[in-house]
Amino acid sequence: MSPLYPREYAFPDITSHANGNTGTPYVFQFDSGAPGPTVMICALTHGNEAAGAVVLNRLLSEGFRPRRGRLILSFNNFEAYARFDPGAPDASRFVDEDLNRVWDLATLDGPRDSVELRRARALRPFVDQADYLLDLHSMHEAAPPILVCGKRHEAAEFGKTLGAPATLLIDQGHSQGARMRDYGLFGQAQSGKHAALIECGQHWEAAAPRVAFDVTARFLLRTGVCDPTDLDPTWQQPDPPLQRIVRVEQTIVAETAFFRFVQPFRGMEILKQGDMIATDGAGPSAKLIRAPFDGCVLIMPSIRHAAPGVTVVRLGRYSD
Ligand SMILES: [Zn+2]
Repeated sequence: MSPLYPREYAFPDITSHANGNTGTPYVFQFDSGAPGPTVMICALTHGNEAAGAVVLNRLLSEGFRPRRGRLILSFNNFEAYARFDPGAPDASRFVDEDLNRVWDLATLDGPRDSVELRRARALRPFVDQADYLLDLHSMHEAAPPILVCGKRHEAAEFGKTLGAPATLLIDQGHSQGARMRDYGLFGQAQSGKHAALIECGQHWEAAAPRVAFDVTARFLLRTGVCDPTDLDPTWQQPDPPLQRIVRVEQTIVAETAFFRFVQPFRGMEILKQGDMIATDGAGPSAKLIRAPFDGCVLIMPSIRHAAPGVTVVRLGRYSD
């Protein structure tokens, strides 16, 4: 375990959920029998991000059922989670490849095989059915929670109807491959489908499951599958005073193993044009990375983990 981030909450034993109730391991579907949307909530898309698993474990253990529509609950990368090793906590993010970079049709329908592709193909029929998708994640570094809304402004408007978290992010996804939240109709305008990915905080901090409970309660209520009296009232936190939309303008990828931030940034700092962000490279030839514009918002700086090709920070601006 990184001394920087001790594990502040117990990771749930989810093995009792292995059989699911759908014929697909660790996937549950509950039909209320009443009209309403199909709502899917996912945890453990990354195997070392357990905050969402705490919430799904609780919903299942308490026998939560939708009042309207259908509810699908999935522990996505259960195989990676089973390999979690406190001595190497970042190693169980995935088994073969990142499950959240395979959600384009060419990859899903293509010939390639991996633990994660098999799982994505098994999950795909459920994701296809979902009108609303919530994917519960957490972050490498401690930072305020962020709702990753995808490429379209209207998706951030959906995030506003949840009332939290404070930061709604518009971005272009990852060049390494498509996320589940951008898959199919979730990425298309006016499809009537909405997907949100929440980064709940640092993977192992106690605040992360609190944020996961809060956003899950908001999502279940917003989509109408339950009423406030169906949920533990302590799950929902007070609304943040303001929700703001940040649009990612630029992604900084480390070019060398010597990438270093000039300060221990946490995320959401606002810089002026020319302010130093980082250096990349060794010695006097190191590249200087500066804020390219005024009002430059640092998003999810990765201070512990820089290697060539790794996205180390996104640069955004407020766009509301
Ligand atoms: Zn994640």
